[in-house]
Amino acid sequence: MKIRFCKNCLYSTLHPLGITIFENGLCSGCVIHQEKNKLNWKSRWEQLEKIITKYYKSSNEYDCIVPVTGAQDSFFIVYNVVKKLGLKPLLVNHNKYFNTEIGIHNLANLRIKFNCDILYQNINPETVRKLTKNSLIKMGSMYWPVIAGNTSFPVNIAKKYKIPLIIWGAHQGLEQVGMFSHLHNIEMTKRYRKDHDLMGFDESNLISNFNNLNEKDLYNFKYPSLESIYRNKIIGIYLGNYIRWDPKVQHEKMINKFDYKTDYQNRTFEKYENTDCYNYMNIHDLLKLYKHGYSKVTDHVCREIRFKRISRDYGIKLIKKYERKKIKYLDLFCEWLGIDNKSLEFSINQHRNPIFWRKIDNRFQFKGLSTLLKDSGKITSKDSKFENSYVLNPFKTTIKKYVTFGKGV
Ligand SMILES: [Zn+2]
Repeated sequence: MKIRFCKNCLYSTLHPLGITIFENGLCSGCVIHQEKNKLNWKSRWEQLEKIITKYYKSSNEYDCIVPVTGAQDSFFIVYNVVKKLGLKPLLVNHNKYFNTEIGIHNLANLRIKFNCDILYQNINPETVRKLTKNSLIKMGSMYWPVIAGNTSFPVNIAKKYKIPLIIWGAHQGLEQVGMFSHLHNIEMTKRYRKDHDLMGFDESNLISNFNNLNEKDLYNFKYPSLESIYRNKIIGIYLGNYIRWDPKVQHEKMINKFDYKTDYQNRTFEKYENTDCYNYMNIHDLLKLYKHGYSKVTDHVCREIRFKRISRDYGIKLIKKYERKKIKYLDLFCEWLGIDNKSLEFSINQHRNPIFWRKIDNRFQFKGLSTLLKDSGKITSKDSKFENSYVLNPFKTTIKKYVTFGKGV
């Protein structure tokens, strides 16, 4: 199998979302990224204002729903919705269970600083544990229940509360692999959720004769039927189609304006995303490396190369520096899941993709994507300042355990 890499970023033809590398050597993600410097963003914003006009309510009812977490662009999304568009949102959060104190603090501050109401979905821990175990065994994903909840809860609330407009941040398929152009004004779909967010498994095909899951366990993770989405005229739009989306710059604005809290992350230079979760940049990221041969730091590197904040050579160095760092907080996860370390290790080893892992004398040898990349050793002056350009605005953490719920301040 011939693996090709983009000549600009460091994604390859094995990207799980699917990528095209064109004759000029650029990948579809880089080509679509170039639109960020070509489009007239003022007129794109005006287009957004036009789209939402009909959703403003004259009464005190909510105008829209905004799915939020204690990280991942939530401050920037709410900032635009409340301060720039003047909408009254109902914030919704699906509790992922693996919350850090920083995450809970940021989430609480979203409500306080933007004067918004928030609705939480807290599913009973037994169901979440059962689902996590099953998705870990079946798909090698401990995050499936989190993603399923994050993507279904807002749509279920839109239906129940009759608030048809949902506002999301950026579309991953567009940002990473250029699956769509910004000009397509892509909206949320049930199909993309199943095929990409949920790795081809939605609630209906998770239940089998070989596990202990039932309809009741999956009730809260179910996405409304297409028929009810059309009947209720529910749409989910992405701000990334109308704003020149740049997470680093956006987060820094939120740190300065609203005291958004940030933290060091074990397996990446990035300090702004996913700091709300103990597992995303640890066991979840390790599973990504097992299955896909690269880890989250590659996503961060590709994004920063495209914004021209680092060179490709330095990007390779950063990937090699971070992608195989020892993961943290595994004991917390094993204790929560009720499984010992050895059994967990056995389970996740089943998901090592033989393309990227060779077993020699009972040990796994890594031959993931970065082993095919060589850097020239050159570092620019911009590169050498890059890692320190991330602003650390820490929140004093007092405990090391999952925070299921908290007022956060
Ligand atoms: Zn590329």
